[in-house]
Amino acid sequence: QPVVAVVGRPNVGKSTLVNRIIGRRQAVVEDVPGVTRDRVPYDAQWNGRAFTVVDTGGWEPDAKDRAAAIAAQAETAVVTADVVLFVVDAMVGSTDVDEAAVKMLRRSAKPVILVANKADNTAIEMEATSLWSLGLGEPFPVSALHGRGSGDLLDAILAALPEAPAIVENRPRGPRRVALVGRPNVGKSSLLNRFSGEERAVVDSVAGTTVDPVDSLVEIGGQTWQLVDTAGLRKRVGKASGTEYYASLRTAAAIEAAEVAVVLLDSSEPISEQDQRILSMVTESGRALVIAFNKWDLVDADRRYYLDKEIDRELRRIPWAIRLNLSAMTGRAVDKLAPALNKALASWETRVPTAQLNQWLTALVQATPHPVRGGRAPRILFATQAGVAPPRFVLFTTGPLDAGYQRFVERKLREEFGYEGSPIEISVRPRK
Ligand code: GDP
Repeated sequence: QPVVAVVGRPNVGKSTLVNRIIGRRQAVVEDVPGVTRDRVPYDAQWNGRAFTVVDTGGWEPDAKDRAAAIAAQAETAVVTADVVLFVVDAMVGSTDVDEAAVKMLRRSAKPVILVANKADNTAIEMEATSLWSLGLGEPFPVSALHGRGSGDLLDAILAALPEAPAIVENRPRGPRRVALVGRPNVGKSSLLNRFSGEERAVVDSVAGTTVDPVDSLVEIGGQTWQLVDTAGLRKRVGKASGTEYYASLRTAAAIEAAEVAVVLLDSSEPISEQDQRILSMVTESGRALVIAFNKWDLVDADRRYYLDKEIDRELRRIPWAIRLNLSAMTGRAVDKLAPALNKALASWETRVPTAQLNQWLTALVQATPHPVRGGRAPRILFATQAGVAPPRFVLFTTGPLDAGYQRFVERKLREEFGYEGSPIEISVRPRK
């Protein structure tokens, strides 16, 4: 999600402007000269585009102490932003401080939109044209308090944002796509046959969806699912279709086409390298994951003991996967499949509001800051969720993070927000 930073001297009305942009009356703390405010990110939307607005404290270059701290905040906001809103007071005009600020903004080479705030009437609006002299291009006269000019400003912000990513969330609500994968003989066909009694014709048209002829629409737990590439499973007569290489390509393609994968393992046999390869295909593709331990009817106490050890050892890197112990043959726990798929998909599409995410993050980094390395400890400034399916997060930092610390943040993020059955991705954007 693109970031818009709001920068300007104290008292020019930044908080009011942020309130105007996020479209609600929220307790954004008023601008008081010399008072440090934290960078607070807010979610905003305009014409269907979502972005994050980061409010900064006031800003007095060259002044000492508190003001310097505020300036540092603003600089930080600027380097982490995709677009900067530079706010000046239209009633005051440009000041020395504003001009010093412009120099810094130029150095940042970020797109800057000049906002002439407090343009409550046409007369002040006319005055605002003198702000061309700042060299930031056209000033946008706005009355953050009354809303005057804010539509034009928001249009300008959208125009300056980087290209919109594809919106995945508004997908048509057809059946969810599931890949049922696993090495030969783990019981894929048997499990499919469990549902096949209730199978519906592939030509069955569900509004807005196309079903590939190799797919099947199947009822599982009273819900219709699109099982991706079941053709291979059906046609097989006792032996694997094609070479192992071909089979693995087909597995990879099915996973790519799916939203959630069920990886079937044979509980009566050790977890093999081939099982691991298939699991890796799923984790690398970023799909939601349910691991089904099939043939559970064959698991006795002895096997159970070794299986638990194998799970500890072999599945350690994917503790978040949902695990089921089932038997395609006896039907044991087969009814748990649909709830598991739904849970994994819900995690996969979870979006955490930016404010909530940052509240949690602030507490986390306060309690456990990044360890000091070579006399320095990078700080995490704030985070945004960049997308879903799977959840992707961007951490804005003052420098690269230790791999260990990044894993710690991921673990804590999972503890807080769940994500059972879904991978999550975290990327770090150190300030340049
Ligand atoms: P696929 O190659 O993954 O499609 O596996 P199949 O469905 O063809 O099953 C391979 C063999 O395992 C067959 O002999 C099945 O009868 C047997 N099988 C499948 N599921 C189970 C199960 O839950 N328990 C037991 N005991 N055998 C199973």
